[in-house]
Amino acid sequence: MSAEGLAGGCHCGRIRFAVPLSALLGTGYCHCSICRRLSGGPVNAWVAVDPQALRVEGDPRRYRSSATGTRAFCDDCGGQLWFAPDDGSFITLNATGFDDPEAHAVRPTLHVYEADRLCWFDIADKLPRHAGGSQPD
Ligand SMILES: [Zn+2]
Ligand SMILES: [Zn+2]
Repeated sequence: MSAEGLAGGCHCGRIRFAVPLSALLGTGYCHCSICRRLSGGPVNAWVAVDPQALRVEGDPRRYRSSATGTRAFCDDCGGQLWFAPDDGSFITLNATGFDDPEAHAVRPTLHVYEADRLCWFDIADKLPRHAGGSQPD
């Protein structure tokens, strides 16, 4: 992590990304079934950023994961990189793709789609939980 921003990338390093700290819009955990299937984990930690400020090296493959957005991943190593809604309002980078995933700026601050949480996955933190998307339910 530099003083100005955060960098990360896929496992093999072919795709790299960087974003200034000023472009971070929020962080959280997503429990939705799409994130689970694509990340391979029971929950996906994300960092929302301003798409205009995201710098990418390499050419990730895109996959339409829903009617409203796409996912980007490296087709060499298979590492999932981000979700991008079609309206271009934000991009959620996978928090675990950052070179310093323990950086304070990328730590999750809430849960979304908690209604889809797997029954065997217990939440031990006290962060706000939203049953659906980013709006309280
Ligand atoms: Zn890769
Ligand atoms: Zn999700």
